[in-house]
Amino acid sequence: MTTIGITTTVPTEVLLAAGYQPVDLNNLFISDPDPERLVDIAERAGFPINCCTWIKGIYGVVMDQGIDTVLCVTSGDCSNTIMLMEVLKLKGRNVIPFAYPAHPDVSQMQYTLESLAQTLNTTLDAAEEARIKLEKARRLAHELDELTWRGNVVSGWENHFWLVSSSDFMVDIDEYERQLDQLITECHDREERGERQERKKGNILRLAYIGVPPIFARDLYDFVESQGARVVFNEIQRQFAMPNPDNSQNSLAEQYSSYTYPYSLSDRLNDILPQLPYRRVDGVIHYVQAFCHRGIGDIIFRHHIDLPILTLEGNNDYLLTQHLKTRIEAFTDIVRRRAQASLVSRR
Ligand code: SF4
Repeated sequence: MTTIGITTTVPTEVLLAAGYQPVDLNNLFISDPDPERLVDIAERAGFPINCCTWIKGIYGVVMDQGIDTVLCVTSGDCSNTIMLMEVLKLKGRNVIPFAYPAHPDVSQMQYTLESLAQTLNTTLDAAEEARIKLEKARRLAHELDELTWRGNVVSGWENHFWLVSSSDFMVDIDEYERQLDQLITECHDREERGERQERKKGNILRLAYIGVPPIFARDLYDFVESQGARVVFNEIQRQFAMPNPDNSQNSLAEQYSSYTYPYSLSDRLNDILPQLPYRRVDGVIHYVQAFCHRGIGDIIFRHHIDLPILTLEGNNDYLLTQHLKTRIEAFTDIVRRRAQASLVSRR
């Protein structure tokens, strides 16, 4: 299969049907042992200092690994991708633009998917077959998510990692399924995270994480757990995995119309708001990337979410700074007092 770089989650099934192996360039960048080196490549090429680190990392990884073809999402993700695409074209890369429809409408999505299939010389029927092949992996990702918030046997980091990896299924769908299946089996044997008892005392907090994936993921989830809190809802990562628990999506067009990330904040809130009480969330971390337009959405989230919210901004530090750690400590302290006060008032 020919490797195709992707700048965010795209209709993978169409790419697979066309004989491409999608590789999420964000995952390649952030899992590199030296991501700063990749950002340096972009800055030396002229990308501004005040340009988002993810965009520079994507550029760096394409140049560093000699990736020849890139599917660039020009609508429904990041406006910077339009300029990134122009630069990649200038550097001789084969770029294919892809735009999500303006609204999550099934017939518009059907048209969009057909156009993509035509561009890649395949058909939507072939892509539907690929959708069926990916069902098991998506079901496993959903099961892991259930074991996170309902079973309390999966950490916030494990949840993040496996859901975010579903954008390209770790470039090997069989291996993704095998490893995730094994993890789920292990999780069934784990003790429930002592949570029920501790929660009765207001000690273990349940947090939601909303926003784009963090640049300092591992450190963030581990540090949150060290403060007696646990992320039980990773919003966008869960969207990447496209869970279909009630089997209500019968086609690719329906599946990608239920996917909220490319659309408005009110579409995303329609997903987020019911999940907060459902997963018994005590507080929300909203991550924003420096120089990202999505940071403005904080105003809207704060207006609609009736829970304590901590807005964390990351730039090009791949570990939490002391300043961010202090803010997380203070936040968990406030949320804990609030949770304990609500327990007392209920007694
Ligand atoms: S974090 Fe924001 S600016 Fe950066 S790539 Fe994502 S959408 Fe674009």
